[in-house]
Amino acid sequence: MTIRKTKHEMPTLPVSERIRSFKEVALGYDEETAVAEAERCLSCKDKPCTEGCPVGIDIPEFIRCIKERRFEDAIEIIKKKNVIPAITGRVCPYENQCEGRCKLGKIGEPVAIGRLERFVADWERKKGISVPDIPPSTGKEIAVIGSGPAGLTAAGELAKRGHDVTIFEALHAPGGVLLYGIPEFRLPKDVLIHEIDYIKKLGVKIRCNVVVGKTISFSELQDEFDAIFIGTGAGLPRWMGIPGESLVGVYSANEFLTRANLMRAYLFPEYDTPIKVGERVVTVGAGNVAMDCARTALRLGAEESFIIYRRTKKECPARKEEVRHAEEEGIKFMFLANPTRFIGDEDGRVVGMEYIQMMLGEPDESGRRRPIPIPNSESLMRVDTVLVAIGQRPNPLIPSLVKGLKVGKKGTIEVDSEGRTSIEGVFAGGDITTGAATVILAMGAGMRAANSIDEYLSIK
Ligand code: FAD
Repeated sequence: MTIRKTKHEMPTLPVSERIRSFKEVALGYDEETAVAEAERCLSCKDKPCTEGCPVGIDIPEFIRCIKERRFEDAIEIIKKKNVIPAITGRVCPYENQCEGRCKLGKIGEPVAIGRLERFVADWERKKGISVPDIPPSTGKEIAVIGSGPAGLTAAGELAKRGHDVTIFEALHAPGGVLLYGIPEFRLPKDVLIHEIDYIKKLGVKIRCNVVVGKTISFSELQDEFDAIFIGTGAGLPRWMGIPGESLVGVYSANEFLTRANLMRAYLFPEYDTPIKVGERVVTVGAGNVAMDCARTALRLGAEESFIIYRRTKKECPARKEEVRHAEEEGIKFMFLANPTRFIGDEDGRVVGMEYIQMMLGEPDESGRRRPIPIPNSESLMRVDTVLVAIGQRPNPLIPSLVKGLKVGKKGTIEVDSEGRTSIEGVFAGGDITTGAATVILAMGAGMRAANSIDEYLSIK
């Protein structure tokens, strides 16, 4: 049998419909397409795709189940390692992970592993989620701080082993970046709510509106719980440090997306969260966060939405699919260019941006070619809104408050390979230990920490 060299296309919402709505863009495979895509899998014995998965899902095995239309078994295999597959099936950077290792990739496109994961997760959601048998209670209590993918994974894994887990979340609803950062058109919130319901059904309790370090002290948690997992993420915006960043109309990506997503500014007038989007919006940066900002601005009514990036399209850190969707929607990319200042009017509102042309020099410590400004190449452009999406730093509250917690130079909590911090009984993982990274890496860290918490409690 000859094997099809390309992935089966992912159906998407027509561009005309998506640019003025927050409806999900990628629509998912139907059953026939999923089975046909699964049939492309070579079922490699050495499972390179599984090696490329930070949580180690048995990928060839779940794909085999799809081939045989045993979807219930497929989701069961995935859920052994991943408690939120409908989310990772939508947002994982597969090209750098499982799909990047797929042997089919050498002769054509890899198997669409992410799309297949999403297919079975959505299939299960429509059918009704089943919960595995939970062993009898161990009587051990664990506090998880933060309800992003790291915290949710650690909590779910520990609950599956019979521990009593409580998540403390600062915001009024759980999900971390999955809730306040990633927009509805990439990750519908009803999908997130379903995944969180599954974790609650495993027995995890979630207490929202609790800022650990303010509402309740860290030492109170240490007194009450047998172990603590910190998964507080990287939500502190980075700024460029150029003139004009404090003008009205210049937002950090986080503030803009939080207003749009968590505070539902896009559901105007049902929600009256203020958000200013003028005719011309410029987003600085080219990662997933930047794509989300530029595409959100377009949907909120911007006539032109630009992305300015100091390197080229090749170096864009965003998932390829996000860049393609942004291009399809008419986002205008300004590559090899970087803002040098923002210009305000007499009321302190941003009205313009000065930017400079860049060229690429030798590779820097990240391995990417270093952007270098070209002297005397500055230009001006009119802008109404600027969204700065050049990265986030770890949330500083817990690292700065907790005595004895070893913190790295960049504000990350230091952990060993199993997620143990410098304090006995305190574990950490996700963006708070790595700096801004990815959902699946945060989940992998949550999983490793859950294993070591389980081991710690068994000998305590
Ligand atoms: P977070 O998701 O940040 O969750 C941390 C949680 O801790 C938050 O809910 C916060 O409110 C809570 N918290 C913080 N301090 C306290 C405290 N003191 N007390 C109680 N609670 C506290 N990754 C991908 O893989 N694919 C993508 O497509 C992608 N797109 C992204 C788009 C955007 C806009 C952003 C911002 C990030 C994106 N990422 C993406 C990155 C990914 O979302 C993060 O790497 C991941 O969410 C990190 O998970 P986490 O659990 O470590 O932290």
